[in-house]
Amino acid sequence: MNNTSPKYCQVVIAGGSTAGISMAAALKAARPELHISLIEPSQQHYYQPAWTLVGGGAMTQQQSVRDQAPLIPKGVEWIRDRVAAFDPDNNQLTLETGGLLEYKYLVVALGLQLNWAAIEGLEQTLGANGVTSNYSFDLAPYTWQCVKNLKGGRALFTQPPMPIKCAGAPQKILYLAADHWRRNNVSAESHFFTQGAAMFGVPFYAKALNKIVASYGATPHFGMNLTAVDGANQVATFTDAEGNTRTEKFNFLHVTPPQSAPDVIKQSALAGAGGWVEVDRNSLQHKRFDNVFALGDCTDTPNAKTAAAIRRQFPVVVTNLLASIDQNSAAANGSYDGYGGCPLTTEKGKVLMAEFRYDGEVVSSFNCDPRVPRRFYWWMKEKFFPLLYWNVILKGRDWNKPEAKPRPGVTEE
Ligand code: FAD
Repeated sequence: MNNTSPKYCQVVIAGGSTAGISMAAALKAARPELHISLIEPSQQHYYQPAWTLVGGGAMTQQQSVRDQAPLIPKGVEWIRDRVAAFDPDNNQLTLETGGLLEYKYLVVALGLQLNWAAIEGLEQTLGANGVTSNYSFDLAPYTWQCVKNLKGGRALFTQPPMPIKCAGAPQKILYLAADHWRRNNVSAESHFFTQGAAMFGVPFYAKALNKIVASYGATPHFGMNLTAVDGANQVATFTDAEGNTRTEKFNFLHVTPPQSAPDVIKQSALAGAGGWVEVDRNSLQHKRFDNVFALGDCTDTPNAKTAAAIRRQFPVVVTNLLASIDQNSAAANGSYDGYGGCPLTTEKGKVLMAEFRYDGEVVSSFNCDPRVPRRFYWWMKEKFFPLLYWNVILKGRDWNKPEAKPRPGVTEE
């Protein structure tokens, strides 16, 4: 790495968004005497689940952002920098500004990387010519502007290869937009292009979503990946698994960008086969480096990459990390079950609350059929979840009640 003498840190948390802040807060509360250093470059903190509602005209952009400083837990050292390289064999990492840190324990919470440049021509036209994405704080308001101003024509919505964060978000905006056009008698033809083979990874919910897509007269196109955009001429190019291409005219194009592990992880020994941090799917401890844990979107665990998952992950990492510190393996009993949740906004005012665990096991926090879109869930998405995020999750409070359970009364059709 470099020749400067390292600064010693007891616990380093790399990344200070949903996963990093909740982890730092919970760890500090559990063990106030620990010295925790949090590496995070951004002065702003974003509540990304709100961007679907911003793009759908149900929330403002400003409601999704707050200053980072007051969110850093008291007593946690904030290092306003970026990790440039990890060296887990030597328990060290290098900062972008050149500093070297040596750690006793490392928690990786770097999220994932949005690869806008992987789609030819996309970056040149984002935010113009009707080309937008709710995956960006800056662009979500433009989504709503385009939806509101569309007078008719062809609307395309895209979904890249998995894994992506919030796998439901590419179709949530389709439903909100199509609902708006229907209510306002705008004759728009909607198409959903996904690289996948179904509307959703959990078949139980996919069946319900097939009906919702059909109810809008929208056409799903499976196995099709967006590979190029010509903004000036409003033409999108899609490529299938055999390399065949097909072009589509559009008046509105909502793009979900291709996503991957961050380069800094991919290029390090922390990465497993897919480039993500290689952790045990239950303990969230690194498979090869015992003093390293990871949570949030950056791990290789096969759960849905959501804030809902992180809510269940950080208490597990706190338990297992403290057991490691205390050299008490009997106390390392934290186990993450793969819980993820995806509130699918099926129309303005209604949400289908998809909840599941590892291997597609359907669960529900509520004693009713989770495939039915409900107004109560919309209220949760719009009002309750933001409150939960800012006041409970980011404070590191373990809010797991009511526990999501398999519902024996709800069976597959
Ligand atoms: P991120 O939030 O990506 O944070 C990573 C942090 O690491 C950032 O702060 C970044 O600045 C920092 N970082 C990056 N590189 C470095 C570096 N080299 N050094 C130091 N720091 C670095 N989830 C739900 O539960 N429900 C929803 O309804 C939902 N809807 C969504 C809708 C949209 C449009 C989007 C985009 C996401 C949605 N999500 C939803 C997903 C959820 O927001 C994410 O899963 C969650 O925020 C991931 O948190 P994270 O901390 O793992 O990663």
